[in-house]
Amino acid sequence: MKYVIGNWKSNGRWEENARLLTRVRELPRPGVEVGVCVPFPYLAQAREALVGSAARFGAQNVSPFGAGAYTGEVHAEMLREFGCHYAIVGHSERRQYFGESDAVIADKIGRLVAVGITPIWCIGETLAERQAGKWQEVLARQVREVVERAGVDSVGHCLLAYEPVWAIGTGINAEPEDVEAAHAWVRSLLREVGVREHVPILYGGSVKSGNAHALFSVPGCDGGLIGGASLSADEFAAIAAAA
Ligand code: PEP
Repeated sequence: MKYVIGNWKSNGRWEENARLLTRVRELPRPGVEVGVCVPFPYLAQAREALVGSAARFGAQNVSPFGAGAYTGEVHAEMLREFGCHYAIVGHSERRQYFGESDAVIADKIGRLVAVGITPIWCIGETLAERQAGKWQEVLARQVREVVERAGVDSVGHCLLAYEPVWAIGTGINAEPEDVEAAHAWVRSLLREVGVREHVPILYGGSVKSGNAHALFSVPGCDGGLIGGASLSADEFAAIAAAA
């Protein structure tokens, strides 16, 4: 199975969304799961637009808490009521701008798995970390801390997205050999910490129609998490076709 999942980030307007979702409806194929993670206010629109299609939708965040006095938070049970299939956790933009730590990411994963929502768990190193030759160390820390806190069973229900921070939104994708090495490293870490399920590992970072086929052909790459290019129906359709 290949996964092609769009992350709209903080983008979208009702009418543009409607046009985009009409195309997204048609994109799933046997062996290719297609989904979009939309801003909270558009979850109902996505649900309605994708009814009867195999295309899935989800959120881009979730509260690490349950119901209660947590002003501004949206908890996992609410997402389940909306029919969300996924929720993104640990995206580098949330780590960078909102201080999302591995402990919080682990708690979010636990909340999601408890209600049957698939976490899309993002990990990845910064440019400085790669240039310092530390990418393996960084990925190992990100994986181990979450597994330790969330447990191997919860992690076994995730889709993992390897997203080198320097490739996100920059137009510079990682080279296929770097993706292959990173995915193999993450796969070996998962085995080492005792995750028995096959956790799909997606690549994210400047995937476009022109590089999708090369990236998705990398051994150990189970698809892509697509940011900017998921906002264009033609681009997203071409990426899904490449899968
Ligand atoms: C992302 O937001 O997860 C992402 C990979 O963004 P982009 O495709 O725009 O680099």
